[in-house]
Amino acid sequence: MRLTRPFRKWPLLVLGIAAAVLFTSGIPAHAAPKAKNVIVLIADGCSAEQYTFARWFKGAPLSFDPYRVGAIQTYIADSVIADSAPAASAFATGVRTSDKFISVGPHAETISTVPVPPEDLRYRPVATVLEGARLLKKSTGIVATSRVTHATPAAYVAHTISRSNENDIMEQAVHQGIDVVFGGGRRLLIPKESKGQRVDGENLYDHLKGWGYQIVENRGDMENTHSGRVFGMFAPSHMDPEIDRPRLHPDQPTLAEMTRKAIELLARDPDGFFLMVEGSQVDWACHANDPAYLLSDLLAYDQAVAVALEFARRDGRTLVLAMSDHNTGGFSIGNHASNKIYPQMKVEAFLDPFRKMQASSVRMWDLINPDQTADRVKTVTRTARITPSARCSARNTPTWAGPPTATAAATCRCTPSARASLPAFWPPPTSPVCVPMPWVSICKNSPSGCSSTLRAPSPMAALRWTRATRQTRW
Ligand SMILES: [Zn+2]
Repeated sequence: MRLTRPFRKWPLLVLGIAAAVLFTSGIPAHAAPKAKNVIVLIADGCSAEQYTFARWFKGAPLSFDPYRVGAIQTYIADSVIADSAPAASAFATGVRTSDKFISVGPHAETISTVPVPPEDLRYRPVATVLEGARLLKKSTGIVATSRVTHATPAAYVAHTISRSNENDIMEQAVHQGIDVVFGGGRRLLIPKESKGQRVDGENLYDHLKGWGYQIVENRGDMENTHSGRVFGMFAPSHMDPEIDRPRLHPDQPTLAEMTRKAIELLARDPDGFFLMVEGSQVDWACHANDPAYLLSDLLAYDQAVAVALEFARRDGRTLVLAMSDHNTGGFSIGNHASNKIYPQMKVEAFLDPFRKMQASSVRMWDLINPDQTADRVKTVTRTARITPSARCSARNTPTWAGPPTATAAATCRCTPSARASLPAFWPPPTSPVCVPMPWVSICKNSPSGCSSTLRAPSPMAALRWTRATRQTRW
């Protein structure tokens, strides 16, 4: 198929930071000999600012920092801002396509800087790098913390004009013959009649079992696989945010654990392998303006990158690419609220509020949602937010990934400066509750001296939540 140049060239060269390395002898990928294995890792929905934030929090370089080679520009055929679907499609196929498209060519309407695509490319399925790897007889794998049918993994394994067609995407994923699939989305394998979400009545587990796949649903079963094809579905829908996982579903594996096992299984193939790993929920944390969710998922991703790099170092024939697809949520370390204080921001003062956060906005919203009143918000922040075992636990832990271990007591008192920063409508300084950063965190005095925090899940939810809390003097 003849393609016009703008569509056939790798189109993505300059917005997110990209890192690439082939550890043949420690030389950068562009100068190294041909790789046998390729591991692509994508932190969905984040850009340089999120990496900077995570780096401060980690207190050390991110895993890929030593191997940064450039940046990528990710505008799509019909919009300045990329959706995950066309962005991942471009990563997977080299073709710049249209909004919501999953590895099919773009439609005819393009932004002014993008030429109209040739007719024979429009809506046409375009081969992905994973399919190319299969043609080379390499083993293949996908790992995600979302449903594996979500936009980014979908673009490597399926072809459809809408990322919403997850029934079709799962069917294609199953029929791709991928060797290792780890993530969420179990319900998309099961028909509606059996409490799944398939509308075609098919039970795709029948196919998988017929083809000899090992089916696993928790960390223990996953760790017990040592060869062969494995389909790991660790949640009916998405897996938990990393910050909530140890409390909600501790038997769900981490992204790093899934990555390590996927590499172990795939590396048995003498022909090599292709593996795509997505830190799926970094994007959602940024949509929700939720810094703790962002940190925990981005640092969990960082650990997965470390696993890939560690393997590549040992193996010597593995190309590792780590990149992101677009910014999300306008995340920024400074904004109008820091106009006056930015010249005096000290590291610990900057990081402390985030160390105290112990649940994602997703979990908090689940708890608050049935009864959106001020009393409910107070009850949730006082009771559900801090469990006895987890009390103040995150304060001194170096990262949010993994179960909390440190138990040092955290104190959170309404300091004069915190009070001064409260918006006028917020509770008076004598209130037992202080809110240093509206929408971002609540910090609450408690008899034990522990702290709790709450982040609102979205601007609309924040609005509802604010309205509820403003109706009552705390
Ligand atoms: Zn994305």
